[in-house]
Amino acid sequence: MLRMTGTSISHPGQIRKTNQDRAFSSPVIGAVADGMGGHKGGEQAATIAIEILSGFTEHISSQHLVDTVRDANRAVFEEGDRPELRGMGTTLVAAAIHPEEDRVTIVNVGDSRCYRFRSDELEQITIDHSLVEELIRQGRITEEDARSHPQRNIVTRALGLTEDIEIDVFEIDAVHGDRLLLCSDGLFNEIDETTIAARLRAATDPDTCAAELVDLAVASGGRDNISVVLLDIVDDADPAAIRAEAESTKRPTPTAAAQVFDTMVIDQVDVDADSDVHGEADPESEPIGLTVIDEDARAVSTLGDRTVEPSSAAPFDDEIDVRSVHRDRSRARWVALSVIATFLVAFLGINWFASSAYFAADQAGEVVIFKGRPGGVLWIDPEVEQTTGVAVEDLAPAGVTKLEQELEFTSLDDAIDFVDQLERVDSLEREN
Ligand code: MN
Repeated sequence: MLRMTGTSISHPGQIRKTNQDRAFSSPVIGAVADGMGGHKGGEQAATIAIEILSGFTEHISSQHLVDTVRDANRAVFEEGDRPELRGMGTTLVAAAIHPEEDRVTIVNVGDSRCYRFRSDELEQITIDHSLVEELIRQGRITEEDARSHPQRNIVTRALGLTEDIEIDVFEIDAVHGDRLLLCSDGLFNEIDETTIAARLRAATDPDTCAAELVDLAVASGGRDNISVVLLDIVDDADPAAIRAEAESTKRPTPTAAAQVFDTMVIDQVDVDADSDVHGEADPESEPIGLTVIDEDARAVSTLGDRTVEPSSAAPFDDEIDVRSVHRDRSRARWVALSVIATFLVAFLGINWFASSAYFAADQAGEVVIFKGRPGGVLWIDPEVEQTTGVAVEDLAPAGVTKLEQELEFTSLDDAIDFVDQLERVDSLEREN
């Protein structure tokens, strides 16, 4: 019978003062909620949703899960009646396992995501309910554009904004070895799917893997709160699966492989021979990875007595690591130079990035346009660019919600236009 084992982790990131994400996992269910609508409201909405979903101690049906999400929506909606919490909402993505049926139900509202990692491939299960997703669908921007789009935070659906909601439900099959990743947009807007897949592949322990994913997102900017729930599907009753798991934990690490390579081969293969041996094989390309064992075995054996037998070399997986480690070594000088260049570019880039945006925010009850990034970037704080004379209390609740999203604009004119629109808005775009 299948079971689910996992971990959850949530981090405020580098820019935001509070963490409005909530994440949770148990053997029965895992969930991520990304709250919105002001500091207090966002946290409150996400907390309500996660508390309701984390109440299960036994496995639940798909219908029960969907009903519970509806209950959570209503609970957030009713709590949002309080004036200090007006306009609050939250995204929600959750996965519940049905062990007897080898199946998992995913429910989704908003722009948090569920991915499945299986047979070395990462597949996005959910579809984002966001403005940028619609722009992508219309062919107006690319997925790459979406990750840095100034309005990437705008969702078209969320819990708590209306009395009833539409919920996406995905029924997927589950097998031993599947990894489910639930995450908030703070993860996938910072690191691309190739990087996510590489982490899921490399780290066997879910706690380590989740922590590494969060660290990567923080390191690459951490502009938003980051939440990760990692759920591993395990089949206790399948002896083959147990053997496979045992094998996978026995596999030596890349470091160990590098040492083996040094002692066995590195002194005996000159640079030319090495380039013959490894040819144009790209260690990061999967199809080549699958065929390279034969290439290597054949090429190494033609070097004759000076080298070890291919069959006694490190296992197949490690051949790939060995090659990349060796290549890195021969390029150490260039790596050092490019590290220096990278720091220089990063320093200039941070200065530029920190001062190249405008956003509107509430300052002592007035809408004020700042130059810079919300919350500042490292050592650079935003500065008041222009006051607008617009009182926050005169805005409709939806306008306040939009203001609190602290959207970034590339020009002052765009920011001024945005403030003009705030005064006019009386129903949320996301509700249309
Ligand atoms: Mn977020």
